[in-house]
Amino acid sequence: MIGFNKPYFTGKETDYMQDAVKRQKISGNGHYTQLCHQFFQKKYGFEHVLLTHSCTAALEMAALLINIQPGDEVIIPSYTFVSTANAFILRGAKVVFVDSCAENPNLDASSIAPLINARTKAIVVVHYAGIACHMGEILDLVKRHRLFLVEDAAQAIDSFWEGKPLGSLGHLACFSFHETKNIISGEGGMLVINDPAFTARAEILWEKGTNRSAFFRGEVDKYTWVDIGSSFLPSDMIAAFLYAQLENIDDIQQRRRAIWQRYFDQLQGLAEQNLVQLPHIPAYATNNAHMFYLVCQSASQRQSLIEYLKAQHIHAIFHYLSLHESPFYSVLHDGRNLPQTRRYTDCLVRLPFYYELSEPEQALVCEHISQFYLKNQVMAS
Ligand SMILES: *Cc1c(COP(=O)(O)O)cnc(C)c1O
Repeated sequence: MIGFNKPYFTGKETDYMQDAVKRQKISGNGHYTQLCHQFFQKKYGFEHVLLTHSCTAALEMAALLINIQPGDEVIIPSYTFVSTANAFILRGAKVVFVDSCAENPNLDASSIAPLINARTKAIVVVHYAGIACHMGEILDLVKRHRLFLVEDAAQAIDSFWEGKPLGSLGHLACFSFHETKNIISGEGGMLVINDPAFTARAEILWEKGTNRSAFFRGEVDKYTWVDIGSSFLPSDMIAAFLYAQLENIDDIQQRRRAIWQRYFDQLQGLAEQNLVQLPHIPAYATNNAHMFYLVCQSASQRQSLIEYLKAQHIHAIFHYLSLHESPFYSVLHDGRNLPQTRRYTDCLVRLPFYYELSEPEQALVCEHISQFYLKNQVMAS
């Protein structure tokens, strides 16, 4: 069986976790947490970062920081993971869903403007598959209407827009280290604070509404309850695991990019015959090789392809059932059709993608996909 995902371990993860244990400080914000923070500051120039126990938690912190109140509206793509929306729903926001682009599943920046009104508080962009959204247009809107911009950069580590790292463009940005992402710690995440107005409060929300972090730095003489908050920080054992991954990020990324390119090269023929749509990377964006996907021509074709591959012991998957049509939100949605979201929901399929996927395995996946389309064509003619 060629699985869909296989977490990659660099070899140092458990050594560093043991070291964290030996240091006898395994709660949050310890030695390895600091090392991870410094890593992101140095490598990507993020000034303020806080590890969290998930990207979901980082998104919840973002919603708290921009002070979402009941009735506030937040513009979010419908083709995304549920946490992108839930974090704002938890604060009482009304989510206004926006459609995806035709060329890739990122939100269609040109359809945002008509959705903005006096209650609009924020735009949340999702850099799908680690490919930057059309940030030029979005940054313009954010400035013109004085909105907050939050990046759901869960999939977007080590990727760039116009030379700037994703995660550095919004007031706040959220990353994931879930085991299905490029860099992993099982569960894990990070909040990036790009607007210094949020720095001090972010640390307080992170530490259960207390000024504990300032206390440990010696800035205040006692720590106490100063704001709302929760426990958003991961154990230092998780940070130790993550640090082993971060030390190897260049190797991991190089390998993933090679895997991505092989898929692209081997499947391009099918795209030239218009049998499938391949990922599109705009000139302003880089590719961090988070995933490789195909867009089939119909829902039934996708279903047949997934079943065909399964019979060959290859596990391909689909994901993201459009949020505006979900059981939870369809009754609250304003009724607009989002045709591209619908198309990706019905037709997108993700291929096996992980560090240890071998060249022969990958060639086999591509061969079976080509065979599937060959048989389909024979049947159609
Ligand atoms: C993975 C993912 C999340 C959630 O990340 P967790 O770390 O599992 O909370 C949120 N948004 C997107 C776009 C994701 O891909």
